[in-house]
Amino acid sequence: MSAENFQEELRQAVDLMSLERPESRSSLRFLLDLILEQSSLEERFKEALSDHFQSLREAAKRVAEERKPLLELVGVPDIPEDLLLESISSVLRVTLSHREDLAEDLGRIEAALFGGKGDRNLDPEVLVSSLLSGRKEELEKLAGELGVDPVLIEAIALWAVQPLLRAISKLAIGDIDLKGWYEGRCPVCGSHTRVGFLRGEGKKLHLHCTVCGAEWPFQRIKCPFCGNEDQDRLGFYTVGGDNRFRLYFCDECGRYWKVVDEEVVGRKIPRVLYDAWTSHLDLAASERGLK
Ligand SMILES: [Zn+2]
Ligand SMILES: [Zn+2]
Repeated sequence: MSAENFQEELRQAVDLMSLERPESRSSLRFLLDLILEQSSLEERFKEALSDHFQSLREAAKRVAEERKPLLELVGVPDIPEDLLLESISSVLRVTLSHREDLAEDLGRIEAALFGGKGDRNLDPEVLVSSLLSGRKEELEKLAGELGVDPVLIEAIALWAVQPLLRAISKLAIGDIDLKGWYEGRCPVCGSHTRVGFLRGEGKKLHLHCTVCGAEWPFQRIKCPFCGNEDQDRLGFYTVGGDNRFRLYFCDECGRYWKVVDEEVVGRKIPRVLYDAWTSHLDLAASERGLK
């Protein structure tokens, strides 16, 4: 699909979703601008990755056998710092244009990254590596030092690194034996996802990684979080009689995941929007005490 078609498809989808849920309009506009910005950054990261193509694709072939996500096998490839900074800077700009209420915190992050020489006290590589290795306490420490909300700094770091992860995912997914990957976490980046879709005859379940966009088949009767396969301890609700979406839950670990039935909805909404499209299920889940 060409970049223009992708943009147009996203815009139309966001319009449709906004009609259905007018109260989400402004957050959907934000999401749209963020995804558009990220997709142009993705091209840049793809170029920067060209020296790593071969090694990534070789490692991808070992993912299923070694039962380890690609990023765990290869680590995060070295990326030029200026590109990383550009990505963070773009994300800060898009965020500010939709969330003026965050101006002060966003300004602090920007100053820490881009303040004059010797003035800088936030290393973009430290930011990204603490996010990717799941070292939450490091992110919290960084946030504390800057005096900003840890949730915000984590979101900015994630949005800035997503174009890199998406580029890696697209590059390597074809070399991963997805049918041999039985885990609930992503075979590329290792993230857990709570988004899936049913597709094809027999409504086969696939999970969609909301971080890098990878998709892989997954058992219908299995919890992607704890691996529970006891069908008496798993189930799903529909909300308000709407059979387009299913809210699955596991009684074993109390987690939930959201599944779009593509046999009912078709493909008019790009999957990158499924998490937002099903945001009302997050509410329903929290009302039911699911996490
Ligand atoms: Zn992923
Ligand atoms: Zn579970």
